[in-house]
Amino acid sequence: MKVKIQVVIESDNGESQIVQEVTQIERGILQPENLGLSLAEAKTLLQRVQRTFVEKQIFEYEKQHNSCLNCSKKLLHKDKRIVVYRTLFGKLKIKSNRLFYCSCQDQPARTFKPVANLLRERTSPELLYLESKFSSLMSYGLSVKLLQELLPIEGEISATTVRNNLHACAQRLESELGEEKGAYIEGCPRDWDELPRPDLPLVVGMDGGYVRSYDKKSQTKGNFEVIVGKSIKADGTSKRLGGVYCYDTKPQRRLFEVLKSQGMQMNQRITFLSDGDEKLRDQMFGLNPNTEYLLDWFHITMRLTVMNQTAKGINKKDTKLNTDIPKELERIKWYLWQGNVFRALQLLEDFVDDLEIEVLDGNDQPEVKKLFKMVREFETYISNNGACIPNYGERWHNDESISTGFVESTVNQAISKRFVKKQQMRWTPKGTHLLLQMRMLILNGELRHKFQQWYSGLRLDNEPHLQMPHAV
Ligand SMILES: [Zn+2]
Repeated sequence: MKVKIQVVIESDNGESQIVQEVTQIERGILQPENLGLSLAEAKTLLQRVQRTFVEKQIFEYEKQHNSCLNCSKKLLHKDKRIVVYRTLFGKLKIKSNRLFYCSCQDQPARTFKPVANLLRERTSPELLYLESKFSSLMSYGLSVKLLQELLPIEGEISATTVRNNLHACAQRLESELGEEKGAYIEGCPRDWDELPRPDLPLVVGMDGGYVRSYDKKSQTKGNFEVIVGKSIKADGTSKRLGGVYCYDTKPQRRLFEVLKSQGMQMNQRITFLSDGDEKLRDQMFGLNPNTEYLLDWFHITMRLTVMNQTAKGINKKDTKLNTDIPKELERIKWYLWQGNVFRALQLLEDFVDDLEIEVLDGNDQPEVKKLFKMVREFETYISNNGACIPNYGERWHNDESISTGFVESTVNQAISKRFVKKQQMRWTPKGTHLLLQMRMLILNGELRHKFQQWYSGLRLDNEPHLQMPHAV
């Protein structure tokens, strides 16, 4: 059996018709593996249909753009130039007209190429969308492999082009984000009183994580900090955001836009949870007049757990310590849970003193020294953040947020898979920041909408605009 596949192109008035054969497929005895099309055949088919289709579209477009917009005089043809354009179904080398401008008006140049002007970005929006989608979730190299496996674009895209395209999209996002400004609070308390009754508080959590860096120029290695946040509405819906601390020039604007998109009102309360890091709180300052800053319970318990682990390594027979360390830590935790910073600090002070005497008396167990250092640091931590320690127990009882454990998972989602686990990869602050922007767009479920905003004719839903032929 021989199957011939043709493309039939009809003019709008139905008068002329072009029939072009794109491929022939032969089949012998039916086997499971030769039923229908193979991927290779489908790729060839798509590639050829695409070429025929585009050739005709370009021909029509050039026919419509060959006369002066001002005086309608036919424009003089100079020569043909190749425009390279990447699509889902192959890289096209489009022969396009170069025309002389009409002399009826002053022009910036002598000639122009209508098709090149139309196809300024040399990658089709839909390919750009798929590239962005995959490379935000997996490595650039893997994204290229996957796309090449499924689409007829072997050898036509590379990790570098995909990365550059993703960066260009992220730069576009960045440029759409308004400028950073000193203050975002609008109106005064009297105006806020007149606002409608606000929603329940927005809960904002922020946390940082480190990514290994590499500077090509100086060949230096190091770390830089990625800050990730999540804002949760009372109805449970949430949005994520992130940036590279040393690179981001608009962290507050970024956070403000997220809060605004969640309907934040100036009379609405915000609960801001963090590990007490000043620079995280700074991002929130000036965005909302009713913000309460809380120390994240998760970070308190994490430190206590680590201290407990360290204490287990101490050989009790060689110490003069009378305190039952796990019990003591449990008591401290209990006072902190109730927001009793005063009592917790008293206990911590005594604990630090006991450990200090132990160290001064010559106990040289490394665990004792380590624990001494940790408890002293914890005391400073609690003392510095005392004002942000609420009665966690009461809040918990009232179903109010006490922890950004939910941000931990965002940090993981945002950076671990793509940045940390891939040990051989080293990142630049800029590359990481830009990739994060696209990644957050995906995690927030906004990528498709964004592309449709950028390219209004782009259809990305599952039901494409196909007219089915009449029943034959
Ligand atoms: Zn003219």
